[in-house]
Amino acid sequence: MIIQRVVLNSRPGKNGVPVAENFRLEQSTIADTVQAGQVRVKTLYLSVDPYMRCRMNEDTGSDYLRPWQLSEVADGGGIGVVEESKHDNLAKGDFVTSFTWPWQTVAILDGSLLQKLVPQLVNGRLSYFLGAAGITGLTALLGIREKGHVAVGANQTMVVSGAAGACGSLAGQIGRLEGCSRVVGIAGTDEKCSILVQEMGFDAAINYKKGDVAKQLRELCPAGVDVYFDNVGGDISDTVISQMNQNSHIILCGQISQYNKDVPYPPPLPPDIEKIQKERNITRERFLVLNYMDKQEASVLQLCQWIQEGKLKVRETVVEGLANIGAAFQSMMNGGNIGKQIVSVSK
Ligand code: NAP
Repeated sequence: MIIQRVVLNSRPGKNGVPVAENFRLEQSTIADTVQAGQVRVKTLYLSVDPYMRCRMNEDTGSDYLRPWQLSEVADGGGIGVVEESKHDNLAKGDFVTSFTWPWQTVAILDGSLLQKLVPQLVNGRLSYFLGAAGITGLTALLGIREKGHVAVGANQTMVVSGAAGACGSLAGQIGRLEGCSRVVGIAGTDEKCSILVQEMGFDAAINYKKGDVAKQLRELCPAGVDVYFDNVGGDISDTVISQMNQNSHIILCGQISQYNKDVPYPPPLPPDIEKIQKERNITRERFLVLNYMDKQEASVLQLCQWIQEGKLKVRETVVEGLANIGAAFQSMMNGGNIGKQIVSVSK
């Protein structure tokens, strides 16, 4: 059977900025027959995520991420529909997902590596299983629960960087649902800031590309910062950490501002900021959602419930067509998306 697929065309270099041309669309073939235990799936949605930047290097710098090889089909979070099944637990028409879905229009996959999806849990919005009801939502929820020390009634102020991105937009809302009394976001455009406040219930948002971030933060967080959900690292994080309270907590989710630089993860703090962190006893432990997969099922149900109740507002930026996945990745790495960036493959 003839299919379309996207392979890694070139590497951006360890310190380079990735571009759409690092990926290549090509025609390929898959077997006409499905073997025992396998299913043939049609791809519906693919996820592009910041961690993929590390997979574009020869060495990902991480023991849990495998680099993509040149001319090898890329892969990541994906959702599809079963077209033919020789697996006992899967039938034609089932919707399924995997963290290692190949970037191709149709694929033959090992059925035991797929998870079945229940579309009703997300009001039929299947793509949410890649975002708010998937690994992104889990990252926000479990990051806060495992590392945030948020307590109802404790009158805590949370700051979120990368706040209009997939994780950040959920993290601020979940921080509030879990008990924070004040939530302030940091994002890169006025439009994003306005969505955070007007649609997602943040108390305030700062456009870090305009004005003095430290000054605005002092005004918007008069009692200091108790919980910092850090998606970006770099100067923004240094500014936030300088205003954190004694015994406060950083949720070290990601450091996207450093991903095109050849630095270790997590990048060390500058000496003056590290001094503040130590003196004020601010926790900054590494958080990796994949270490908490024993909590996946219950946490996904919690996220779906909040979505159904309208307590968690979800934004997606959907790009149509497998041919555009490289451009979608480039745009995501440049902050072009609001909420989760999804590629729709069916059309
Ligand atoms: P995303 O949707 O692309 O959001 C990232 C946001 O960061 C964007 O909205 C972007 O918009 C902002 N940003 C990009 N470059 C920036 C820079 N140089 N300085 C400041 N802000 C910048 O990504 P995501 O899926 O939410 O992921 C967010 C972070 O979580 C990433 O670091 C990712 O690696 C991490 N993550 C961690 C885990 C885990 O287990 N720890 C799991 C999933 C994701 P603006 O610049 O316009 O604000």
